[in-house]
Amino acid sequence: MTFLDYAPAPESQAVLHLRDEYGLFIGGEFRAGGGTPFASINPATEKQIAMIAHANEADVDAAVAAARKAYTTTWSKLSGSDRGKYLFRIARLLQERARELAVAESLDNGKPIKESRDVDVPLVAAWFFYYAGWADKLDHVGLGASPAPRGVAAQVIPWNFPLLMLAWKIAPALAAGNTVVLKPAETTSLTALLFAEIVQQADLPPGVVNIITGAGDSGVPLVGHPDVDIVAFTGSTPVGRAIAKSTAGTRKKVILELGGKAANIVFDDAPIDQAIEGIVNGIFFNQGHVCCAGSRLLVQESVHDEVVDRLKARLSTLRLGDPLDKNTDIGAINSAAQLERIRTLSDVGEAEGAERWTAACEIPANGFWFAPTIFDNVSTSHRIAREEIFGPVLSVLTFRTPAEAIAKANNTPYGLSAGIWTDKGSRILAVADQLRAGVIWANTFNRFDPSSPFGGYKESGYGREGGRHGIAAYLQGATK
Ligand code: NAP
Ligand code: MG
Repeated sequence: MTFLDYAPAPESQAVLHLRDEYGLFIGGEFRAGGGTPFASINPATEKQIAMIAHANEADVDAAVAAARKAYTTTWSKLSGSDRGKYLFRIARLLQERARELAVAESLDNGKPIKESRDVDVPLVAAWFFYYAGWADKLDHVGLGASPAPRGVAAQVIPWNFPLLMLAWKIAPALAAGNTVVLKPAETTSLTALLFAEIVQQADLPPGVVNIITGAGDSGVPLVGHPDVDIVAFTGSTPVGRAIAKSTAGTRKKVILELGGKAANIVFDDAPIDQAIEGIVNGIFFNQGHVCCAGSRLLVQESVHDEVVDRLKARLSTLRLGDPLDKNTDIGAINSAAQLERIRTLSDVGEAEGAERWTAACEIPANGFWFAPTIFDNVSTSHRIAREEIFGPVLSVLTFRTPAEAIAKANNTPYGLSAGIWTDKGSRILAVADQLRAGVIWANTFNRFDPSSPFGGYKESGYGREGGRHGIAAYLQGATK
């Protein structure tokens, strides 16, 4: 039998005009940073994309001062409808520059272009449109009488959805009347800097949005800055814990969106075809670099063999390679450090006795890659069932009764998301009620919408982003 092969279909990079060097964006202008600039590399080729400025403490001071000045003199004085106009303008510019942003995101992060083009960037624009619509309605939606902004927001985001996490942070903050200083992750600064250009294009008053680039050492003084009123952090649980400690006892409002180890529960009456697609989407979307990824498959024992066999067949059809190729399903791992972490935890899984299966695929010579992998016969005590791998690795566990499924699903220090696959609506409601997770999908997975709040239980953090809860966090004394 012969198979039709795919011809390469790379997205053109002609739409993207990158500079060789990027500065910090402070007070409406790009300027050099005080630290030593660093290179952002393309994880699919290991080639340098651009040099990025590194913010030191003096730069952080300058950015917070610019945000404070903009807050006091202009942004907090504008009417909600005027703030909304700026946000609508940003949303439209994001749509106009959508292709360019998608190419930049895939280049810098390694995610497949079909994901950045069809998921990340459309959601980024949707987030700005959504919160633009809130800006002039805050007095009338039960958030209290004339709810007031908090002031200056310090926002720190991770590398897995660089532009989308920026949108989750900046859109509600600005709609509520706050000004911001945002730090993207060191390995994925590019789209935040293109966003800074959009801020200039939208003619936003200088200092309303400031972007400082750098590593964790730029994040520490930002989060700790005494003139910051609200800290919003998305990232790992250890860093979130450190931020919670360092801000305890201060007047700062803190929102933490941290890690996860979600259970994706498949009952024996589930529509298997859809469930297979949902499991694949749940853990192999974005190379598994997803905080709410369905990294623990809990499958009812009677359908275990069928589900695992069909999953392996489906994974064998996924195409791994050039993130800019429109046919690519699995892109590059974002960094050498992350690849090392995935390898280490996978080796631990094997050593602990789980059964490892890896999809046969050609791994490109350069860049950071990890083939889709399944671990079967995993038990709840295995490290690969407890720790976040943050890569394209699925741990499979079984259960016999709904009660066992619920007990195993909740047996984790995390509680960000969960999935339920069954034909019975009543079972969905009964199980969802007992799962300790912030977001629960039924017969689908990894669906995001700006109107829907997102956030965790337990070590997955506190606070909610999205929807009414997402904007209430940025308002003083708002009733939720
Ligand atoms: P990370 O190491 O915690 O880094 C997150 C951000 O914090 C980066 O910008 C990082 O800078 C910065 N940072 C590091 N140390 C800091 C410190 N002491 N003070 C202030 N900022 C500091 O997380 P990551 O490895 O980039 O991201 C993966 C994690 O994020 C996973 O655990 C994932 O589950 C979680 N995540 C959660 C959500 C959610 O909504 N719950 C969404 C996406 C990701 P540098 O990277 O530049 O060093
Ligand atoms: Mg990069």
